[in-house]
Amino acid sequence: MVRTFAFGFPKLGEKREFKKLLEGFWKGKISEEELKNGMDRLNLWRIRLYSENVDIIPSNELSYYDFMLDTALMVGAIPSRFGEYKGLNTYFEMARGRNALELTKWFNTNYHYLVPELEGENFKLLINKPLEEYKFFKDKGIETVPQVIGLFTFLKLSKAPKRVEEDGLPVIVLEKLNTEESLTEFAQALIPVYKELLESLKNEGVKRVNFEEPALVVDMEPYEWEVVNKIYKELSEAGVEIGILTYYDSVSDYEKYLNLPVKALHFDLVSNKENLENLRSKGFPEDKELIAGIINGRQPWRANLKEKLSLIEELLKISNNLTIANAQPLYHLPVTVEPEDELPEGLKERLSFAKEKLRELKILKEVLEGKEGALEEVDFAEKVMTSVFAENPEVKRRVASLTEKDFSRDLPYKERAKIQNDHLNLPLFPTTTIGSFPQTQDVRKMRTAYRTGKISEEEYKKFIREKIKYAIEVQEDIGLDVLVHGEFERSDMVEYFAIKMDGIATTKHGWVLSYGSRVYRPPIIYGDVSRPEPMTLEEISYAQSLTSKPVKGMLTGPVTILNWSYYREDVPKREIAYQIALALLDEVKDLEEAGIKIIQIDEPAFREGVPLKKKDWPEYFDWAIKSFRLASRAKPETQIHTHMCYSEFNEIIEYIYEMDFDVISIEASRSKGEIIEVFEKFKGWDRQIGIGVYDIHSPAIPTKEEMRTIMKRAMKVLPKELLWINPDCGLKTRRWEEVIPALRNMVDMAKELREEVGVKV
Ligand code: GLN
Ligand code: ZN
Repeated sequence: MVRTFAFGFPKLGEKREFKKLLEGFWKGKISEEELKNGMDRLNLWRIRLYSENVDIIPSNELSYYDFMLDTALMVGAIPSRFGEYKGLNTYFEMARGRNALELTKWFNTNYHYLVPELEGENFKLLINKPLEEYKFFKDKGIETVPQVIGLFTFLKLSKAPKRVEEDGLPVIVLEKLNTEESLTEFAQALIPVYKELLESLKNEGVKRVNFEEPALVVDMEPYEWEVVNKIYKELSEAGVEIGILTYYDSVSDYEKYLNLPVKALHFDLVSNKENLENLRSKGFPEDKELIAGIINGRQPWRANLKEKLSLIEELLKISNNLTIANAQPLYHLPVTVEPEDELPEGLKERLSFAKEKLRELKILKEVLEGKEGALEEVDFAEKVMTSVFAENPEVKRRVASLTEKDFSRDLPYKERAKIQNDHLNLPLFPTTTIGSFPQTQDVRKMRTAYRTGKISEEEYKKFIREKIKYAIEVQEDIGLDVLVHGEFERSDMVEYFAIKMDGIATTKHGWVLSYGSRVYRPPIIYGDVSRPEPMTLEEISYAQSLTSKPVKGMLTGPVTILNWSYYREDVPKREIAYQIALALLDEVKDLEEAGIKIIQIDEPAFREGVPLKKKDWPEYFDWAIKSFRLASRAKPETQIHTHMCYSEFNEIIEYIYEMDFDVISIEASRSKGEIIEVFEKFKGWDRQIGIGVYDIHSPAIPTKEEMRTIMKRAMKVLPKELLWINPDCGLKTRRWEEVIPALRNMVDMAKELREEVGVKV
């Protein structure tokens, strides 16, 4: 009989209980015991949902902050700066203290994990959370399968300190385990700890442990497979059944995966077709259990259960030891669609969030068991998901009629730059900011008041105008060269546009954790996308009317809107991106018409959309670059900026260049030597580049000297004529008291630098 299994169910809770508990504890409003009790209740609630719907239930999933941090603590990887482990204090110091671990994106998703640091080699089984959780549920009569981040994935995402020379001085830097030597060394050191874990679980009666190994879907070197083999060969000796879960893509080597000495293998059959094709053509071993990930954990659509049933039928021919499951962890989805009562007509019945996904697995099993009534739901799902919905023939026609010329500007960069220079008349090292200014308490209060109908649209708009006026005055006073309106009207750079565009819905309660207690609500692109009316014109034109300096028109780019939203699966991503780009192009035209000379199209999500496997890069970059170019097809005299707030450009700089912007602003304060490396390699870079000299993630006010050092570094590899000076990213999370002196320092530093290179100020 087919079994059902699910994993990764959101820990957030239906009313964001997780967030409230955590933040309550941090603020000292609840005690450690209350926190623990609250977390236990949440955990039980999750487990009940699992047990009402599926056969096999995972445990060890609820982390107080991040599962990679938990794994680091499990193996005793605590960097010496945190001292000895003293319970939750140390835990949250490592997560969010002054010298916290680095936070970074989890594979190609919007979840962020803490990067473990592997100092020394004295690892030991320190915090056995898998065992504690297993016992917690067992005491309540619930048998679970402990789920643990696999050792290979843990190692691939960790860093280890390494001694290097910088400017002639020895410094310690953290590096990924990117050599055979380092990977093998740490695998050797940690295998005994994982083995001890398995033995302790076995003693408690655990039959099976599932290891999450998403790192097996990324391109892998032969030596890495050897390490994986060694890990699982040794761990299988502990005498506990081992299952491996892989997700976000197909496994990087099908045969090698099949040959791992473990009991069960999970496949993501949703992210792309490759795993399924391999199963079809190469088969599956009789002595292993096939865990088929057939329910989408990343997109919120109801599954066409009829199709899933025929897939199950086919899979049963490949393996009669079959378990069906979700393809990727369910925490990429909100908890439930139940409370969403203001969605566009017909959308709710098409949606399926985490709770509904569990039910889909249950229905599939009921049908297989011949349970009465189950087929009705299958028929309903098929009817809903195959009917035409939210189409806009006009938008489709517009995309279909695009030609090569729509993707390029009328003049090449060199000629545009000349016209723009004459027209804008900016000094050397122009200074600017990235867009948002502090979103203070009053801004948030007024937004809520407006949303809940406590103040009128007119009052709200008046308030926003006052904020814009203040921001312009501040910038004029500081002496910045290119101004912004401050983005006070925007709660979120994607949601703001999503609300204004047709074909994109926003939810009321559709929260998803991005890290720690931080949540966001991804919009849902459900139909053809268009812009019924201007989206930013009013605020930008008002700001421009207050000053003779150029104010930047501020838009979120098509790739970022797409990557930070859920999107439909019946239409290629390329097509959706072009639709969004065309809506943005309409906005660009309106801004030009209104006399806006500089338009910034932010693409902070450009990097994270890059596929996990290199072979898929050309297709991604082709549509991503083209959609940016489509949106930014402005007049030659309009200066197009883009912004990306990270510096991991090394591998993709050539593609970024192809976006054909005039100016790009990037992060440069935290990542020390990276810019130098990138631009030493890229010969002939001729676009202007805004150097992010102010680390906006820190409340510290950067000094002139600090910022100057960063500029000097950039000047080593880039002609000074190309350089702008700006913060790393938007300033919305900062306070005016920090922002004003920091920007003053920045502008003063620019003036001094101009003098230094012999340019009249
Ligand atoms: N313009 C946006 C802002 O300043 C950019 C935000 C981002 O890059 N994440 O807030
Ligand atoms: Zn940014």
